[in-house]
Amino acid sequence: MTKQVDVAILGGGTGGYIAAIAAAQAGKSVVVIEREKLGGTCLHRGCIPSKALLRSAEIYRQAGEAEFFGIEIEGRKLRFDRVQARKQKVVDQLHKGVQFLMKKHKIEVIHGVGRIMGPSIFSPRSGSVAVECDEGEAITIVPNHVIIATGSRPRILPGLPVDHPSVVTTDEALEWTELPKRVAILGGGVIGVEWASMLTDFGVEVNVIESAAHLVPQEDKDVSTELQRQLVKRGARIHTQAIVEPEKVQIDPDTGEVKLEIVSNGQAIDINADKLLVCIGRQANIENIGLENAGIEFGNGRIIVNEFMQTNESHIYAIGDVVGGLQLAHAASAEGILAVRHICGEADSGIDSRRIPRCIYTAPETASIGWTEKEAVEAGYSIKTSKVPFQAIGKAIVQGDTTGFVKIIANADTNDLLGVHIVGPHATELIGEAAVAQWLDATPWEVGEVIHPHPSLSEIMGEAMLAVDGHALNL
Ligand SMILES: Cc1cc2nc3c(=O)[nH]c(=O)nc-3n(C[C@H](O)[C@H](O)[C@H](O)COP(=O)(O)OP(=O)(O)OC[C@H]3O[C@@H](n4cnc5c(N)ncnc54)[C@H](O)[C@@H]3O)c2cc1C
Repeated sequence: MTKQVDVAILGGGTGGYIAAIAAAQAGKSVVVIEREKLGGTCLHRGCIPSKALLRSAEIYRQAGEAEFFGIEIEGRKLRFDRVQARKQKVVDQLHKGVQFLMKKHKIEVIHGVGRIMGPSIFSPRSGSVAVECDEGEAITIVPNHVIIATGSRPRILPGLPVDHPSVVTTDEALEWTELPKRVAILGGGVIGVEWASMLTDFGVEVNVIESAAHLVPQEDKDVSTELQRQLVKRGARIHTQAIVEPEKVQIDPDTGEVKLEIVSNGQAIDINADKLLVCIGRQANIENIGLENAGIEFGNGRIIVNEFMQTNESHIYAIGDVVGGLQLAHAASAEGILAVRHICGEADSGIDSRRIPRCIYTAPETASIGWTEKEAVEAGYSIKTSKVPFQAIGKAIVQGDTTGFVKIIANADTNDLLGVHIVGPHATELIGEAAVAQWLDATPWEVGEVIHPHPSLSEIMGEAMLAVDGHALNL
């Protein structure tokens, strides 16, 4: 069977389904081909389930701290089966929501594995999509445009026995029916630190092994230093500048215990754990999707695209984790919308990655946008900075959570806002204000002039912006 459509989207994750809605809203006929479940990594194995578990971990920790607020809680008990059941309920609810949105916008979803074809009897142009449907049927979609949104999967350290139940990625860890007592986390990037924070709050003994000199090395050094300090304070052990050789990872054949011999900052350390959680990044799904058939360029493990998300075959676009860059759900959606706008002839500029917020849902949360101080200096900017602690904010004291700060980096010559970095309560919400400011090209002074409600955590944004020019009022 063949089917003609305006836009075929390969992969129904965040990037794919948002692109589908945008295309349908623009009046295009759209087919989404999805081999698993609509919603992809973010909904089923990423953002949403991990944040649901983090929320339970937060509640569990806060229940342990209730006495500080004058409340005694007797018999605090973690019921991990219920934690997991709640997580699944959240995922299922949102999965239904995505399915509803597809119906609402009259987007056809074909469940099966898709592969892009070269020129064929169906079309002289590359880009038809052969789909092996779950029901065994074969369908060929013949679209005017294709958007590849096949996402990514966990990267594995070559040589590690990942098929052993003691060595897992977050895909498997999200399905744990009970919590291990000791977990060694390989990788102190965003995903690794979120799991370190969550497991620590659940009372698990955690060792994080990171090859760089700091956790989350892509973030501003002040942020990673504070995050590391807070994780250590809550009991996590952090090993930086650490080298793990796969042959020095031994698994006890009887107990499944993982024994690691690592070298951290030049020192030999032995770590024993029940599970080794491998969080060393994501690998784009570029294999077996027909890139070679269609002559689509790829390199360094990702599809190569221009600023409008077009591949070298100009009617075939690629978005989201499969093109690398910032592998974030909201980046994937923004790229999907951009690709659709370009298909409709309505896009005149690409996405500036410095306007994409980066959030880490640890305790404390961190969030940032734009340049780190080091990047700004290395780029040759003359900068001015401010750093305001949550300790100076009434609402933070009311909340009993004064950890962290907001740091602003501005261009000393032009007053442009270059970067905003937050560690502390509700950082992932507060960064929204900085994203709007960046979008509107507001200067720190203009944001500082905004009347923020009192008492609110958002007051820290105004204070930090004013502090860049020495005008903070509450410091
Ligand atoms: C543990 C974890 C936590 C995360 N937390 C966050 C977070 O808090 N915030 C954030 O912004 N990002 C987070 N991310 C990253 C986020 O999940 C991804 O950036 C996002 O899902 C990328 O969307 P995508 O559409 O590019 O790909 P995906 O969501 O991976 O979707 C790709 C889809 O394509 C389908 N597919 C692949 N090949 C084929 C084929 N041949 N035929 C048919 N279908 C195919 C797959 O089944 C999948 O559904 C997290 C990731 C992980 C792993």
